[in-house]
Amino acid sequence: MIQKILIANRGEIAVRIIRACRELNIQTVAVYATVDKDSLHVALADEAVCIGNHQLENSYLNQQAILQAAINTQAQAIHPGYGFLSENVQFALACERSGIVFIGPKAETMQMMGDKQSARETMQAAGVPVVPGSKGLISSLEEAKKIAQEITYPVLIKATAGGGGKGMRVCYHEDNLADALNQAQQEAKNAFDNGDVYMEKFVENPRHIEVQILGDTFGNVAHLFERECSVQRNNQKMIEEAPVQNLSKKTKERLYKVALQAAKKVSYVSAGTLEFIMDNKENFYFIEMNTRVQVEHPISEMITGIDIVKEQIRIAEGKKLSFNSKDLESNGHAIEIRINAEDPYDNFKPMVGKVNSLHFPGGNGVRIDSFLYQGYQIQPYYDSMIAKVIVHARNRDEAMEKAIRCLEEIDVDGITTNVEFQLDILLNESFQDNKYDTSLVSKILKVG
Ligand code: ADP
Ligand code: ADP
Ligand code: MG
Repeated sequence: MIQKILIANRGEIAVRIIRACRELNIQTVAVYATVDKDSLHVALADEAVCIGNHQLENSYLNQQAILQAAINTQAQAIHPGYGFLSENVQFALACERSGIVFIGPKAETMQMMGDKQSARETMQAAGVPVVPGSKGLISSLEEAKKIAQEITYPVLIKATAGGGGKGMRVCYHEDNLADALNQAQQEAKNAFDNGDVYMEKFVENPRHIEVQILGDTFGNVAHLFERECSVQRNNQKMIEEAPVQNLSKKTKERLYKVALQAAKKVSYVSAGTLEFIMDNKENFYFIEMNTRVQVEHPISEMITGIDIVKEQIRIAEGKKLSFNSKDLESNGHAIEIRINAEDPYDNFKPMVGKVNSLHFPGGNGVRIDSFLYQGYQIQPYYDSMIAKVIVHARNRDEAMEKAIRCLEEIDVDGITTNVEFQLDILLNESFQDNKYDTSLVSKILKVG
């Protein structure tokens, strides 16, 4: 049994995890950067330890300080949330060496799946369809040219350490291949300290569909149905829906089968997501696995009634999944809207400032995951997402109406947000008709 968990994160996900712990009667330890001393996760946790200044490597990426905080407070486990150290194999191993449970998959699974190129190879071996592309990393321009000729243009150069849509360049013609290769490598080096890239066929205007899975240490794996995440800007998700409505039952069954097959192949433990892109004929291809809880996990919780974070904790305690996958049902429709402190009319520039007053929508079927409160000062050093509005209703139409009502009601005074732009998307005809792919946002931006 775990009595105390340290949460190695900040923002809404730290708050989300602390709330789950409280309901499970587990003590919590927050860690925080100096600039986060007034953050909600610090106020809500039972204990809090300052681990360094605002620079990421000094605080939320400071493995030594986080481990020391766990040891000093006698926390038995660390929940890494998403981003930061959540997919860091070295950190998972360091936890193990210190006798602390890392709440996530086994380090060797993270090793196999965390690196995107090796994940492709693992999945191919498991019989999962992957996007046509390079066999391994690309070491030279000559090699890139050869592979591109084989798989035909357009191609996509992708960082093997990639995340958050970074380190990706599309290329339509051989003349631009050298530039695309250089740019992707450079961006990856800057963002992930790893410039290694690989190549995939660029699927034009695909849909992004993903399957949530949970596995326990007894070898049980279950899927929690699928999510549609095609509302994206710069390859970053903005709105997510569950379940996917306009997809044949046959394709859904195939998606679940493939996801479970993949999870079993790597003896997957904890929460994870298999991401796929899908063409307009419902052919789907694996693109990556996120070996952690995802930003959009609440919509799967809404339609299944399963608390994914609590399951992660139970699994880390060595317990079986709390449900029988055969009994799991998908109920109604859920939508998540990411609210960011950014200015859509100034190229989505991140915004900071003080929340003068705050009103969050409520009512039947509404869930808000956020770390905001009145008087809170938004910091410039972190991700611009400040809240997630999650709605659940009997069907997609009712969920959409609810989402629109919520965005009309929300009021974060003092901060410029993307609320108006998200409303434009919700009111868009293609979105409403449920006929959209990953090109939706750029189309809306063009019409402006
Ligand atoms: P999700 O599928 O959960 O939405 P994202 O790729 O959007 O995943 O990433 C979730 C969060 O983690 C974002 O805040 C993003 O900036 C951050 N993130 C993802 N991958 C990395 C990475 N490799 N390094 C640093 N931050 C990352
Ligand atoms: P990240 O780790 O940044 O989340 P992903 O590999 O998941 O990277 O890709 C992010 C998004 O980029 C996808 O959701 C999809 O919209 C787009 N994308 C990725 N690979 C391809 C591809 N081969 N063809 C077309 N679009 C792609
Ligand atoms: Mg992804």
